[in-house]
Amino acid sequence: MRIPFIAGNWKMYKTIAEAKAFAKEFKALYHDTDVKTAIFAPFTQLQSLVSEFDGSGIAVGAQNVHFEKEGAFTGELSVQMLEEIKVDYCLVGHSERRQYFGETDETVNLKLKALLCSKILPVLCVGENLEEREEGKAKLLVGAQVKAAFDGIDSKDAEKVTVAYEPVWAIGTGKTATPEQANDMCACIRETLTELYDEETADRIVIQYGGSVKPENATEIMNMEEIDGALVGGASLEPLKFIEIVNF
Ligand code: PEP
Repeated sequence: MRIPFIAGNWKMYKTIAEAKAFAKEFKALYHDTDVKTAIFAPFTQLQSLVSEFDGSGIAVGAQNVHFEKEGAFTGELSVQMLEEIKVDYCLVGHSERRQYFGETDETVNLKLKALLCSKILPVLCVGENLEEREEGKAKLLVGAQVKAAFDGIDSKDAEKVTVAYEPVWAIGTGKTATPEQANDMCACIRETLTELYDEETADRIVIQYGGSVKPENATEIMNMEEIDGALVGGASLEPLKFIEIVNF
């Protein structure tokens, strides 16, 4: 059985003081639930959030990592550095990293492999842009991203990865994919995972939808058969909105 997983991606928002204030307010609203909950925060806030959320059941994730153990990679952080501060998850291949920071299918694959050698669980983001959807290439493109990301990863490790389907045209735009469009692509991702592995493995992999999820549409999205969770950007910055999504 797949456990629902709702995660917030704060992108490049909040200072440490603001993150601590969020954590205090959110913890007071949060009651232990069957829904896995996590916040993906900028690097400087991770340590405070790990300590604020300790024992609360709320997990903390980083938004990026380098795939090498160490080296002359100015401005980067290694998996070991994230492990040292007890981060639970790490995003890989968010579309903003693909679009603005040169993330490729190849580096995504290397990052997944590096994380899978650690205790940190990866959340892999995939998704098509508007042009690709309009040209009818969305499924092909997303399928290719999934295949490239999981290349050389065995089924035992593959089960540890969460996949977030995030159509680029729906991120931060206020435009949401219809629940049917999102469900359809999540089903397609599971079919690709079945092709790569087997039905049992594919059935165990949690697939989230992300793209303008908010309290008003969370229930409908989460009720779709193939959607196991949500990756939430803007609406995760406010405790009251994010708790409503977690309690969908
Ligand atoms: C995201 O950052 O992954 C995201 C889905 O953003 P938003 O919810 O703001 O569209």
